[in-house]
Amino acid sequence: MGTNEKVKCLIIGSGPAGYTAAIYASRANLNPVLYTGMQMGGQLTTTTEIDNFPGYPKGITGNAMMEDLKVQSERFGADVRFGLVTDVDFSQQTKLVTIDGDKQIEADSVIIATGATARYLGLESEEKYKGMGVSACATCDGFFYRNKDVAVVGGGDTACEEATYLAGLCNKVYLIVRKDFLRASKAMQDRVFKTENIEVMFKHNTKELFGENGVEGATLIKNMGEEGEEELDIKIDGFFLAIGHTPNSEVFKKYIDTDKEGFIITKDKSSHTNVAGVFAAGDIMDPTYRQAITSAGSGCKAAIDAERYLLSIK
Ligand code: NDP
Repeated sequence: MGTNEKVKCLIIGSGPAGYTAAIYASRANLNPVLYTGMQMGGQLTTTTEIDNFPGYPKGITGNAMMEDLKVQSERFGADVRFGLVTDVDFSQQTKLVTIDGDKQIEADSVIIATGATARYLGLESEEKYKGMGVSACATCDGFFYRNKDVAVVGGGDTACEEATYLAGLCNKVYLIVRKDFLRASKAMQDRVFKTENIEVMFKHNTKELFGENGVEGATLIKNMGEEGEEELDIKIDGFFLAIGHTPNSEVFKKYIDTDKEGFIITKDKSSHTNVAGVFAAGDIMDPTYRQAITSAGSGCKAAIDAERYLLSIK
């Protein structure tokens, strides 16, 4: 194991929550060290244009925004490093965090902002068309499909919400549901069924996407029970995944309380976890809103909570 280094505030994750925490923590003289994780910049680097973050009237790409946030945090002295947290020991007041399986850091406070990863179906064509018609965020990318036909996969609240949102922009929305029912709340289901340009396709699975320069359609398989299966093609320009997110909390679970899905539980309206000195911000603790702006806001809260905690243990 590499030499120990001692820091006041260690931030894990480089999405809007992590960088915002770094901006606030560095301005509060906590000399934060931030480890980016494998996907530097987080989920926003997989989207294209961000038009709903206040302060960018002309929009900004996900990559440019994350680079701006990084530079802004470094301007105040945050030490941003590429590396993955592979183990933690939160059993003592001084927290031990292992990076890349070999370097160990001692931290007085830790802010977990490791985010969540959108689930994909695992199709080869899905990978091929990522950013070219395949998206896991209707709020981010829906705008590019105005007056076009799109499909949303999933039967939960997210899928229904995204289908309804897209229906307001697009010509037609197919909602592809693998079972013969929606698991979304009744209110959300009602909205879907009342929206004329949403066609719910129960008992359908996606076999593959096709198209020359981006998505032009999807081949679906209809499950007809005892009568077997039937293949059909739909013409679409956009394919939206809404089959859930996996929170990146595995490495912390030995010490940190999560809900049954793995999202970290924070106390009341704060960023405090069940372990004093360990805070959580962004999608790792928010299964509901999951927006860049809400993540950034919670990163700010975590830095303020960490600062107050550090004062309290002096
Ligand atoms: P959910 O886990 O609730 O739903 C996931 C959906 O995706 C299910 O319908 C599931 O199907 C389907 N699915 C999963 N894997 C596949 C697959 N391989 N192929 C096809 N379909 C698949 O996730 P959500 O993101 O919708 O919601 C997460 C949580 O956030 C929930 O608690 C939800 O209530 C909450 N939420 C609340 C909102 C609100 O209140 N405004 C908005 C959004 C989310 P199946 O049913 O067959 O398992």
